[in-house]
Amino acid sequence: MFQHLEAAPPDAILGLADTFRRDPNPQKINLTVGVYCDASGKTPVLASVKEAERRLLETESVKTYLAIDGIAEYGLQVRELLFGPEHEALASGRAVTVQTPGGTGGLRVVGDFIHRLFPQARVWCSTPTWPNHPAVFRAAGMEVAWYPYYDPATGGVDVGRMLDALRTAAAGDVVCLHPCCHNPTGADPAAGDWDGIADVIFDRGLMPLLDFAYQGFGDGLREDARAVEAFCRPGAEVLIVSSFSKNFGLYRERVGALTAVAADRRTAETVLSQLKNTVRTNYSNPPSHGGAVVSTILSDADLRRQWERELAAMRDRINGMRALFADTMQRHAPGRDFGFIRRGRGMFSLSGLSPEQVDALRERHSLYIVRDGRVNVAGMTADSMERLCGTIASVLCPHSL
Ligand code: PMP
Repeated sequence: MFQHLEAAPPDAILGLADTFRRDPNPQKINLTVGVYCDASGKTPVLASVKEAERRLLETESVKTYLAIDGIAEYGLQVRELLFGPEHEALASGRAVTVQTPGGTGGLRVVGDFIHRLFPQARVWCSTPTWPNHPAVFRAAGMEVAWYPYYDPATGGVDVGRMLDALRTAAAGDVVCLHPCCHNPTGADPAAGDWDGIADVIFDRGLMPLLDFAYQGFGDGLREDARAVEAFCRPGAEVLIVSSFSKNFGLYRERVGALTAVAADRRTAETVLSQLKNTVRTNYSNPPSHGGAVVSTILSDADLRRQWERELAAMRDRINGMRALFADTMQRHAPGRDFGFIRRGRGMFSLSGLSPEQVDALRERHSLYIVRDGRVNVAGMTADSMERLCGTIASVLCPHSL
């Protein structure tokens, strides 16, 4: 059977990591994978995570399976992070959570759940979006539709065109949204735009799916949850996928969650039973360690404070790098406006480089960028900024040099 198989194409993002590892150039720079790096270019294990792991090592007494929906306390804490401690959706019991292997696992559970129970539903993704969005949804059997999102002329979001497209969606379709730190553009709707976006989505009878992979990386834990607030109106149905890969630095531990908000508690319990059914036939029940680490941190006042300080430090460094990258690019390519990089949020921006220019940077300068031009601002360091921007400018606008 294997003899006639053709090789699958390498992953657009993770595939480049292999090429980078093999590159012998000591000055190589990797801006591909979405991983936070500190000022020395390392991805540290957070001190709050280390302490939580130390405690878990001492206290963990069983290795039996978790429940299908994971650690119950973790589910509560995820919902509190999403909604804040006072939200009506917490007290009413109309929000339920399953712990998932990363945000990706949560997205796949959504895809399987929707495709099995609402087979007509399509899922709408932004142009552009994280390439694994359409890939995961299609793997689950869903049809993908697209709504215009990024406006390259302004480096911002074209909310008008986005809503025009969503008004053509069929009732029951799912709309995948990035609540903050849009991947790959770094361009988010203004805080005040979310209510209008939610109006259109609910007026059309669409299901919002908030893929929340960067809570706390933009402006703050609560500030970044503005979209969650706009969608979780009384009685409204919402799906939210959380990832703790970035904000807890737990990437390889695969820790995330899927929260479903229903109109009332009874409906939420029915939804949970179906989600558990979906999980059981996929990975059966989630890995424990990452969820236990997050739960240990969030249930201890000191550890939580420490984590919030560490998260703020990551956020501040990213926003500092954005400003430095925009300023340095401006000096190297004065004919262009890089204000959109400063205005963006999260780890990514679109550099405006074409696939051919990206190839030239990799082959000639060992500078690794995703072929759609996405750069990981969180992978930049002040030390190499001059060289980085000079190199990018040399291919972005060769005539201005
Ligand atoms: N959604 C988006 C938009 C992402 O950028 C990522 C991480 N690259 C994820 C989901 C999934 O993250 P993970 O599976 O590592 O938790």
